[in-house]
Amino acid sequence: MAVSDHVDLEQFMAGVEKRNPHQDEFIQAVREVAEDIFEYIEDKEKYHKYQILRRIAEPDRVVSFRVCWEDDNGNIRVQRGWRVQNNNSIGPYKGGLRFHPSVTESILKFLAFEQTFKNSLTGLPMGGGKGGSNFNPKGKSDNEIMRFCQSFMTELYRHVGEDTDVPAGDIGVGAREIGYMFGQYKRITNKFTGILTGKGLEFGGSLVRTEATGYGAVYFLQNMLDYKGDSIDGKTTVISGSGNVATHAAEKILQLGGKVLTLSDSKGYIHDPAGITQEKLDWIKNLKTVQRGPISEYADKYDGATFHAGERPWSVKCDLALPCATQNELTGAEAAVLVKNGCIGVSEGANMPTDLAGIKVFKDAGISYAPGKASNAGGVAVSGLEMSQNSGRISWSEDQLQEQLRDIMKGIHDSCLEYGKKPDGGVDYVKGANIAGFVKVADAMIAFGVV
Ligand code: NDP
Repeated sequence: MAVSDHVDLEQFMAGVEKRNPHQDEFIQAVREVAEDIFEYIEDKEKYHKYQILRRIAEPDRVVSFRVCWEDDNGNIRVQRGWRVQNNNSIGPYKGGLRFHPSVTESILKFLAFEQTFKNSLTGLPMGGGKGGSNFNPKGKSDNEIMRFCQSFMTELYRHVGEDTDVPAGDIGVGAREIGYMFGQYKRITNKFTGILTGKGLEFGGSLVRTEATGYGAVYFLQNMLDYKGDSIDGKTTVISGSGNVATHAAEKILQLGGKVLTLSDSKGYIHDPAGITQEKLDWIKNLKTVQRGPISEYADKYDGATFHAGERPWSVKCDLALPCATQNELTGAEAAVLVKNGCIGVSEGANMPTDLAGIKVFKDAGISYAPGKASNAGGVAVSGLEMSQNSGRISWSEDQLQEQLRDIMKGIHDSCLEYGKKPDGGVDYVKGANIAGFVKVADAMIAFGVV
C-alpha cells in the first residue's frame, strides 16, 4: 500500500468504533494513543504495511466466563469473569485483576490496551493483559471473598501460567484476594509457580511490590519537577483515592517533604488543611484494609478536617495533583480549576483518570502532566521483578528493589523525553509515552511477520 493510500486518524477511529460498539472506555484509550501514533508513523511505511496499530487495538483474545459462588446465606450467586490478553509480543501477558461492580469488557479492554504500552515502557519483558469480574467485594465476609476467589481461579487457571500470563491485583484485589487465588491455583495444578504477582512475602512475593505503584508515581513527579529545576519539597498536594496506590503515593510525598491535603473514596473526599501526616496515613490504611470503612470517618476523628460527600478533591488549591482512584475521575472542567488554582504538576497513579478534555487542558496549559501508562508503571515493574525472583528462586533486598524502582521510573521519564520534547523546551509526556511504548512492541511484531 502506498503511503498516500493510508487511512487517516478519523477513518481508523471510525473502524475502531464500529468494531467495538458501546465500548466507550476502550475507544477513548485507543484514540488517546492513536492521535500520537498516527503523527509519528506518517512517514514510516513499515508500521503501515504491517497494520501495527490496527493489530495492537485488537486483543489477541478475550476470555469471558461464568463465576458461580455461594454466599453466607446459601444463595447461589453468578458473576461474570474475564481475562483480556491484549498483546504478548515482548513477553508473557501481564496486568492486574479488578473486582468491582463497574467492571465491563470495555473497561478491561482499555486497561489491557494501556498495559501493553506501559509494560513496554518499563523496559522489562512483559506483554499486556488485564482481567477481573463485576463482583463487588464490599460488604462481603472473608469466607465469601474466599469462595468467590476460588471459583474465579477454577476457571482462570487454564489461561494463565508463568510463561503465558501472570495477573496481579488492581481495584478490589489486594493481598487477601491474591492469597486465596494463589492457594486455589496451587491446589488445582499441584504446582508452586509464580503465576500471580503481589503475593505474600511468605510464598514468593516481592518486597516493595505493595508500595511500588504509589511510590513510582511520585518518583515520576519528582523526575518531571527535577527536569524543570524544581522539587516536591514544601509543595501542597491533592490526592484522590485511599486505596493501595493513593496511600503509598501520599507516603512518598511526605517522605520528600511535601504536604498532603486530601484523599477520597467512592463516597467523597476528606480535606485536612493541617496536612495528612504519616500517623494519620497509617490510621487510614488500617481503616481501608482492615476495618474496610469509609474515608468520611477521618473527618470525625481528626479536628479541622472536613468531609465532602459525593465530591472529588480537584477544587482544593494545590501545587501538585495525583489522581489515584479510577478512570475518568478528572474532567476538563476540573482540570481547568486545578490549572487556575496554580497546580504545576499532575502525575496519574490511576489508569486513565483524566478524560480527553482534561488532558487537553493540561497540555494547553503547559504544566508537567504524566499519563498513567508512564507514571503508574512502577507497580507492574516491581511485579516484573517479582517474576524474575520467582524464576530464579531468590529474594532481593528492600534496598536493591527500591533502587531498581527508582531507576526504572527515571528510565521511563527519559524515554518520554526522547519522543516528547517540544521545540519550546517543554515535554509532552503523553506523546513521549505513547511513542516510546509503541516502538518496541511494533518492532517485535514486525519481526514475527503476520501472526
Ligand atoms: P484499591 O482498590 O486499593 O483502591 C481504589 C480506591 O479508589 C478506593 O479508595 C476506592 O474507593 C476508590 N474508587 C474506586 N472506584 C471508584 C469510583 N468509581 N469513584 C470514586 N472512587 C473510586 O485500588 P488501587 O489503589 O490498587 O487502584 C487505584 C487505581 O490505580 C486504579 O485505576 C488502578 O487501575 C490503578 N493502578 C493500580 C496498580 C496497583 O499496583 N494496585 C498498578 C497501576 C495502576 P472505595 O474504598 O470507596 O471503594
